[in-house]
Amino acid sequence: MKPQEMGSPAEGCVFCQIAGGRLPSIRVFEDDDFLAFMDIAPLTEGHFLLATRAHYATLLEMPGGLLARALPLAEKLARAALAGLAVPAFNLLQNNGEAAGQAVPHWHLHVIPRRRPGELGLAPGTPADMTRLPLTAEKIRLHLK
Ligand code: AMP
Ligand code: ZN
Repeated sequence: MKPQEMGSPAEGCVFCQIAGGRLPSIRVFEDDDFLAFMDIAPLTEGHFLLATRAHYATLLEMPGGLLARALPLAEKLARAALAGLAVPAFNLLQNNGEAAGQAVPHWHLHVIPRRRPGELGLAPGTPADMTRLPLTAEKIRLHLK
């Protein structure tokens, strides 16, 4: 198998197949760079995905120009979901890497309409260990360029 070139279609990638029209999807938006389509296993009613047309495995591979467009586009789509579905709230969720629960390694952002707290069954965090928290923050700060 050839090594994956950034942005070129990846063999067997479900979202590349959707983007290329080889797999069906129910679309809510598309332009030259992005498409948004309904999730086939929605976490809530109206859950859809915003994906790049080109194949980038995670946020870290995406070119800056696309990154700059992604959040304003998500905002526009989320506003339409709030209005169209008459929901009061939404989550944006974006998984990067298997350990983060990313099942489809082609960049996408979940737009999840929300009607009430607790709908997603996420457990609240546990209180931080305040002796370690500054050190953890420092480990991150050290790598900011
Ligand atoms: P993630 O875990 O962030 O990679 O999420 C992948 C999402 O893609 C899941 O919510 C799946 O339900 C959804 N999904 C997988 N295949 C399809 C498909 N063919 N059409 C629409 N959504 C899909
Ligand atoms: Zn892909």
